[in-house]
Amino acid sequence: MNDEQFRAEVRGWLAAQLGSAEFGCLVGKGGSGRQHEFMAERMAWEQRLGADGWIGFGWPEENGGRGLPWSMQVIFHEEYARANAPGRVGHIGENLVGPTLLMFGTAEQKARFLPGIAAGTELWCQGYSEPGAGSDLAGLRTRASLRDGEWHIDGQKIWTSMAHVADWCFLLARTEPLDSTGPGADRHRGLSCLLVPVRQPGIKIRPIMQLTGTAEFNEVFFDDARTAAGNVAGKPGDGWRVALGMLGVERGVSNFGQLIGFQREFEAALATARGNGSIADPEIAARIADAWIGLQVMRFTTEDTLGGADPAAGGVAAGGVAANIAKLLWAPWHQRLGELAVDVTGADATLAGPGYDLTDAQRRFLFTRAETIFGGSNEIQRNIVAERGLGLPRG
Ligand SMILES: Cc1cc2nc3c(=O)[nH]c(=O)nc-3n(C[C@H](O)[C@H](O)[C@H](O)COP(=O)(O)OP(=O)(O)OC[C@H]3O[C@@H](n4cnc5c(N)ncnc54)[C@H](O)[C@@H]3O)c2cc1C
Repeated sequence: MNDEQFRAEVRGWLAAQLGSAEFGCLVGKGGSGRQHEFMAERMAWEQRLGADGWIGFGWPEENGGRGLPWSMQVIFHEEYARANAPGRVGHIGENLVGPTLLMFGTAEQKARFLPGIAAGTELWCQGYSEPGAGSDLAGLRTRASLRDGEWHIDGQKIWTSMAHVADWCFLLARTEPLDSTGPGADRHRGLSCLLVPVRQPGIKIRPIMQLTGTAEFNEVFFDDARTAAGNVAGKPGDGWRVALGMLGVERGVSNFGQLIGFQREFEAALATARGNGSIADPEIAARIADAWIGLQVMRFTTEDTLGGADPAAGGVAAGGVAANIAKLLWAPWHQRLGELAVDVTGADATLAGPGYDLTDAQRRFLFTRAETIFGGSNEIQRNIVAERGLGLPRG
């Protein structure tokens, strides 16, 4: 099958599914700042995607994927965005955990965990950040020790996206005490990446309300939580390398889809400015032109990011500074678009509907404040570009 035939197949599948009585309600639903919408239906949607082979389809066939080439993965994400298909509930499993297990997992872990991700039946969250350990991740304090064939975990994570619906947590914990004379004496060693079932008595989850009025991330408390001894990705004590491996995995191909979504949002802001005449304001006109130029720059940069893709990551581009540069471009761009979208609306943009019902533009304006923080703040991205890309001394 060539790329154009594949595009027609994807388009046909999306049209049939999103035109159906079961999933028609999901067009344009979910996504950042709107994760609360249609959760049960979107879970069913994940499972339909999985059943029809659209999750992890770039992974090798022996790991439950279809081994499809880059070009087809890009096409899928483009068509998905073009169809305004719903925000994905399972993106952490598919885009972060799956590729990390492909790189670092044992054969048993791949056999146990990849099928649930690919079927859309097991959801994951990422437990890295803690109060006092975000950018300075190696300062984390959650600890785990191996006793009687199980890891026993105590501590706290914060900002854990989707933990309230997740089945499993990819958890970075300290497995050697910092004050030991062993490997834990170096704070980057003595860490391990544990695969932890979320629904158990030792784990309590408290949602955190965001500016958008919704709660998509959480505080997660571990009080003698347990997981089996074999549920460690990579080797015990090798967690820093595995954790950085996951951080380096970028949503390479799905960035093309993101750009189509950005284009749609840009066009909505442009239409509003044309409709209410605010485009006649030279400052607004200049910002619109600037946003359009930014879109073109991001498109070229995303192509560069894909050029550095690592097939070992199973169809997801691995890091390198191109991915950091791409994030430094898209996150502030999207934030500026959020500001532009409310500015072209005028004073109405300051009013929320009954029950804090927000328009798309208001929700975007508020949610995009987070985009220069999550996945590594702008300052941290710049540090990485400076140190690893340009070879500048550490600040
Ligand atoms: C919407 C959202 C979803 C998230 N989801 C998850 C998730 O699922 N799992 C998870 O583990 N985490 C998640 N996070 C947490 C995110 O990774 C952290 O917020 C981020 O790494 C920053 O850490 P911090 O909040 O502790 O801020 P800090 O690290 O305390 O930073 C505060 C400020 O200081 C600056 N700063 C810190 N160190 C330096 C330095 N060395 N040089 C220059 N400037 C510096 C930062 O750029 C920032 O401006 C999420 C965050 C958000 C907003």
